[in-house]
Amino acid sequence: MLTAVVGINWGDEGKGRMVDLLAEKSDIVCRYQGGNNAGHTVINERGKFILNLLPSGILRPEVTNVMGNGMVIDLQHLCTEIQKLADAGVSITPKNLKISDKAVICMPYHVRLDCLEEERLADKKYGSTRRGISPVYGDKYMKKALRMADLFAPEDVLYEEVKELVEYKNLTIEGVYHAEGEKTDAIMQWLKTYGEPLKPYVCDVCTYLDEADKAGKTIMFEAQLGVLRDIDFGIYPYTSSSSTIAAYAPIGAGIPGRHVDYTLGIMKAYSTCVGEGPFTCEMFGEEAEALRKAGGEYGAATGRPRRVGPFDAVASKYGVRMQGATEIALTKLDILSYLDRIPVCVAYEIEGKRTTTFTTDRVKLAEARPVIEYLEGWKCDISGCRKKEDLPAAALRYIEYIEKAAECRIRYVSVGAERSEYLTL
Ligand code: GDP
Repeated sequence: MLTAVVGINWGDEGKGRMVDLLAEKSDIVCRYQGGNNAGHTVINERGKFILNLLPSGILRPEVTNVMGNGMVIDLQHLCTEIQKLADAGVSITPKNLKISDKAVICMPYHVRLDCLEEERLADKKYGSTRRGISPVYGDKYMKKALRMADLFAPEDVLYEEVKELVEYKNLTIEGVYHAEGEKTDAIMQWLKTYGEPLKPYVCDVCTYLDEADKAGKTIMFEAQLGVLRDIDFGIYPYTSSSSTIAAYAPIGAGIPGRHVDYTLGIMKAYSTCVGEGPFTCEMFGEEAEALRKAGGEYGAATGRPRRVGPFDAVASKYGVRMQGATEIALTKLDILSYLDRIPVCVAYEIEGKRTTTFTTDRVKLAEARPVIEYLEGWKCDISGCRKKEDLPAAALRYIEYIEKAAECRIRYVSVGAERSEYLTL
């Protein structure tokens, strides 16, 4: 059984907590794309954890976690993340963490190049997390990257490879950005310091997953970001550099011959967006500040304030379609409890025409105006609700409205950040 837990919107939908919850029924949890630009928050009886690279199943001792070939891994960041969890008493061993030998290494110069480019762009920047993600994916497709398997190469062979790469990167670092070039010895030292401790986790993940699948194990794929940040189906170029959608999950994890059997789309009860680009339903001023505050909408990876807006039916319906979502988990419904009436973006108006069909054409999107309708609020604390009957009638009406607008059945509703704070419909 292959399950995907993916984002319907811009990311930060609360995927981490749903993966953590559903991991109970999974043998294996795989990350299949992205790098440490992700920030998945999991809160359980052991405390609060923000996971950037490690799959969110890592907090469950019986789950095996896989970092797939579709990922880009900053070795230093991963070592630190493993250490932090170890300090908090979470045991991480080659038995519960497997890293694909085909995953690409995000090098210190990728991070530098990301920063140099954002600085060059100044006010035209895309809002990169500055973790080196675009430069490293660029190098992957230029065939100028190192993979985890390269850590096992004889030292002299690796040295020659790194020397070539450093020469190549310095053409840009020195020639384009007029910054100080990289040094081969320093990069070799970095690879040794942070690569050696990770070697025991590196393996042929493809064979591992194939055998696990044949043995009837349950495999869950965990996405980073949502559809609207997908490199192909998102609002390009305001996207991430990888495929965030469920259809890519088996490829990026390492079991490309299989299809996902069940896709759970994670959809927030309102909208948030980190970084630049069109965000049609965006709220401003006091209204925005109140929602941002209520939802604690500050980036888990970067601390940046997130842009906020009401639930966007147009974008969410598109998200459901692109993910092929089987069912939805609606998150953070409790956050809306302070509102007398709840705004919902039900359509866009583009060039004087009303539409509910989303476009990723950024010129059209830049012109789009949100059509807002209001639903009655419930004005009471719902964080204690654990079954449908506990919810106030107005909250149920809101859920039903969203279900219809997004054209997908809502199965779970979360009403608090903790593992147990949810209900099944
Ligand atoms: P992810 O990247 O999709 O995993 O999402 P994030 O972790 O960036 O953002 C979700 C945030 O909302 C985290 O701080 C979660 O702890 C929190 N959260 C998730 N679900 C709920 C919920 O139902 N209610 C509340 N109040 N907080 C939630």
